Amino acid sequence: MPPLDKKQTEQLPQYDVFVIGGGSGGLASARRAGSYGAKVGLVEATYRLGGTCVNVGCVPKKIMWYTADMADNLRKAAAYGFGPEAEALALPKFNWTYLKHKRDAYIKRLNGIYEKNLINDKVDYHEGYASFLSKNEIQIERPDGSKYTVTAKKFIIAVGGRPTIPSDKDIPGASYGINSDGFFDIEDQPKRVAVVGAGYIAVELAGVFHSLGTETHLMIRYDKVLRTFDPMLQDVLGEHMVKTGLKVHQKTHVQKVEKTANGLLVYTDSSEQPVEVDVLLWAVGRHANTEKLGLDKAGVKSNEKNGDVIADEYQNTNVENIYSIGDVSGKVLLTPVAIAAGRRLSNRLFGPPQYKDDKLSYEDIPSVVFSHPTIGSIGMTEPEATEKYGKDNLKIYKTSFRAMSCAMLDEDHKSPTSYKLVCVGKEEKVVGLHLIGDGSDEMLQGFGVAIKMGATKADFDNCVAIHPTSSEELVTLR
Ligand code: FAD
Ligand code: NDP
Repeated sequence: MPPLDKKQTEQLPQYDVFVIGGGSGGLASARRAGSYGAKVGLVEATYRLGGTCVNVGCVPKKIMWYTADMADNLRKAAAYGFGPEAEALALPKFNWTYLKHKRDAYIKRLNGIYEKNLINDKVDYHEGYASFLSKNEIQIERPDGSKYTVTAKKFIIAVGGRPTIPSDKDIPGASYGINSDGFFDIEDQPKRVAVVGAGYIAVELAGVFHSLGTETHLMIRYDKVLRTFDPMLQDVLGEHMVKTGLKVHQKTHVQKVEKTANGLLVYTDSSEQPVEVDVLLWAVGRHANTEKLGLDKAGVKSNEKNGDVIADEYQNTNVENIYSIGDVSGKVLLTPVAIAAGRRLSNRLFGPPQYKDDKLSYEDIPSVVFSHPTIGSIGMTEPEATEKYGKDNLKIYKTSFRAMSCAMLDEDHKSPTSYKLVCVGKEEKVVGLHLIGDGSDEMLQGFGVAIKMGATKADFDNCVAIHPTSSEELVTLR
């Protein structure tokens, strides 16, 4: 369904609920409310539904991860008997431009599916930029500059966030760099890139570039990547990156960037010579899309530093008819979290009586980093559990091994696998599970269910192993 046209916006009802933002959280909450018969509207500022995840996040990123994984597997193919070794190890030419356009077309199809889903659940789709006029009224500015107002009994703020880039004042020339949104616009494969940052996005995108054969520099402020993850994951991934030739610049701060005829010169405090690259990508975090949302006119409070609209455990803001979900609520910035929070909020507001207290539990949320190899993590890290329960109350089970998929490979092509279980108390309740190794992404979901149910080490051990797999190691740890 296309967005409402001008005529349709002249006679609007008062909505039961109006959702600002057509991303993961906004679409999920609007559709769930619509499915209960509520009169629902949703506004999206860009021309495409699906938000960050679909357009410039999880989905195109995962396609790039599959592409990179394909390249890694092609490199290994000779060891499995495909072709004479030397020939097979030379990677076939990769056509970035072809893949980019195919990926764009796939995303466009998804945008259309999201529009159809709104019709199915009878949600009015508005196109434009929304800002509050009061707690019951917003203004929508359409792409042609015309404006109209919408009233609603309740509003759900689901505006997400966008990448943060240092200012040119702080780092001269910083704006020559791109961010993760710009990554998806790259038409031709760059020969040399510098990625700045140490979180999910930096690790994932540096990994994609590197596996596809781009000379990749990863510039991190401290000595480890993924510092909020369990130390085992930081160490194993960091060492593997270096082993495979990704150039990790530790304890490095970018000081200035210059544009030359040959590319960009990135000056840092860790070397006299600048690093010369074709693309500089900042991946140093994100902030909320709230500065032009008119929150003050509705009396909604936000975090002064990053613009997050803080919600309580029921997604309530400080204004009784206004709610906040997803990345803008600043809790756990993941698509399934935004979706689950949005659906549960609509269950609570419009669903049958059994949902009157429905809310999302933010504890033990599993997450995956699509690095090479992948990382899966749920619950407390070892340092967090030590701080909470004390070292003497913990039992840590660890294993490191070469997965059987490496059996035919030479040492250079083998990737690491390490698992850790963090268990507490006499009953050895599992409070943390940390995985790195091929397949960790798909492996985690099932173990996540067990951990959410309160599984102990004995419960893990009581499940007979599946052989030969890597995950069998998790039910046979000693
Ligand atoms: P968004 O999806 O950002 O949606 C917000 C929408 O609101 C946007 O479409 C925006 O245009 C619109 N909007 C903003 N302001 C207004 C306004 N004033 N009026 C109207 N509309 C407005 N998560 C995972 O779980 N797995 C992953 O693998 C993963 N990979 C990622 C990779 C990258 C590169 C990035 C950047 C993120 C990734 N994420 C991943 C995170 C995930 O994309 C977000 O957590 C998720 O999209 C948040 O959903 P949301 O609905 O809160 O916000
Ligand atoms: P993150 O918060 O994960 O990482 C940003 C990192 O950049 C920080 O951890 C910090 O690491 C480093 N950093 C911060 N400021 C600077 C600076 N000025 N210079 C250099 N480094 C800096 O943010 P991302 O942007 O990577 O991702 C945003 C969120 O999106 C993630 O938190 C995640 O929730 C979600 N996401 C999820 C994915 C998934 O599920 N697979 C994939 C991608 C994103 P340090 O302190 O060590 O320097």
